[in-house]
Amino acid sequence: MNSETWDVLVAGGGGAGLSAAVSAARVGASVLLVEKTAELGGATGMSVGTISAAGTALQQAAGIVDDVDAHFEDYLELIPAGRTRGSYDLELTRLLIDSAPGVLRRMATLGVRFSGPHPEPPHSVPRMHNAVLGGSVYIRKLAREARDAGVAIRTLASIAALDRGGQGEVTGAVVRAAASGERTRIHARRGVALATGYFGANASLARRYGRSPETEGIGSLPEDATGDGISAAMEVGAGVGEMDASSPPIFRTREQPYVRPEPHLFEAGAILVNVQGRRFANELDGPESAAARQPGGESFIVFDSQLAARIASAEDDSGPGRNGWLSHRKLFLSTYPAIAYAYIADYRARADFFEAGSAAALARVSGLPVGRFEETLCKVNRIARGESLDPFGRRRVGPGVSKPPFYAIGPLGVSVSSSGGLKIDANARVLDTSGIPIPRLYAAGINGSSNAFIAGHGHALVWAFATGQIAGRNAGSERLDRGER
Ligand SMILES: Cc1cc2nc3c(=O)[nH]c(=O)nc-3n(C[C@H](O)[C@H](O)[C@H](O)COP(=O)(O)OP(=O)(O)OC[C@H]3O[C@@H](n4cnc5c(N)ncnc54)[C@H](O)[C@@H]3O)c2cc1C
Repeated sequence: MNSETWDVLVAGGGGAGLSAAVSAARVGASVLLVEKTAELGGATGMSVGTISAAGTALQQAAGIVDDVDAHFEDYLELIPAGRTRGSYDLELTRLLIDSAPGVLRRMATLGVRFSGPHPEPPHSVPRMHNAVLGGSVYIRKLAREARDAGVAIRTLASIAALDRGGQGEVTGAVVRAAASGERTRIHARRGVALATGYFGANASLARRYGRSPETEGIGSLPEDATGDGISAAMEVGAGVGEMDASSPPIFRTREQPYVRPEPHLFEAGAILVNVQGRRFANELDGPESAAARQPGGESFIVFDSQLAARIASAEDDSGPGRNGWLSHRKLFLSTYPAIAYAYIADYRARADFFEAGSAAALARVSGLPVGRFEETLCKVNRIARGESLDPFGRRRVGPGVSKPPFYAIGPLGVSVSSSGGLKIDANARVLDTSGIPIPRLYAAGINGSSNAFIAGHGHALVWAFATGQIAGRNAGSERLDRGER
């Protein structure tokens, strides 16, 4: 096997890995970053690009007084039912919130432009900042920064297993080239930083951490997110926190930007049909698994002008953020790059949004079979008028889908993800199952999500960038062994 020597090896070319590589290089380390796929980006590159932060320049410009203490208190309101503050590592959670303003400033310094601040309950003030060009802009800026800092970037190369020395310290890893299958032993003199993202596509790990048989076979987003860094670190005794693959599958558009139409559309009367124009599930009772089993795993959300009238429009907004839906108690279609919350006018630019004056015309423009689709709407409207019962047991059917214009969004796909990752401390050192740091091993982003509380819009990216910086700086500052100098 060939071998190479670097100061720091970073695994993963998403937001956390690129941040780690830049920080390690900035403290003088020689850095090799390996990325499994042909392109840098990972989930970071596909993301909407939201960052929630307090005390920012955009908030000040909008006359909003805010600080990290208030952000932290509001943030903990997002803790789900059945869990308490004690369920999470609050030191790490606080680190996330405290890091957010610095992350935003750093990205602005790199040239990322933001819109906002936008509101998001339960935050007491608008704190959501959206990268105007979406999440891919972070990758472009960080990749350039990494190259300028002298980081060597190798794509189609993935870490397989970690190497350990006589004191239990991590000394490097075996890296496999995708094209040739060739393996190279990378000796990392100062340390290794793991940032390989989610494990939703790793069926055995997902099963071990709660994936229900019902969701077996549903694709993951990103589709090749196998959490390799997590598995490799577990092999050398690392502990894990909040590892959970049982979270429900979610709808996402198949067109970029990948967005998730809001489930509240179903509450307001929208229905789901498959590509054959048929309904297949109670839309109010977790229809995603059933949607994944439809032909091609695809479905369309359909609604009419009655629901459309309840969706906010730009005239409802006031100030710099998208707040009209909230102040007018209206709906939005989904969160969205740049504008935060999308209304109908915003979706008109999408190739997967359709609008027509009749059910037949909507079916034609969206590629659904006309007769079957019209029949489906007739049935739905009979149920809405109370003339028949919903065959899928839906109780609140809403006003029906009867008043033109009619709208469809689709085809939508369904994907699963994962949460949690390796246990780390506030220095991004990976902890073993007894809570002791494994020397020279660091993790960041999703790999190092530990049991920090990461929820709501705009916090996962903060975590990726902030822990990436910490992991890279600390790995790059590790002292060399006597024999290495
Ligand atoms: C569609 C979508 C939208 C989102 N929108 C937002 C948002 O607006 N705001 C927000 O805060 N969060 C958002 N998130 C979540 C957020 O994007 C992620 O939590 C965050 O980007 C994770 O960063 P990461 O660097 O840990 O992982 P990733 O960005 O996924 O990077 C991991 C990288 O590691 C590579 N890799 C995998 N295995 C190996 C290996 N063995 N060797 C080398 N490389 C490997 C992967 O190919 C990938 O490039 C979104 C997520 C998705 C999927």
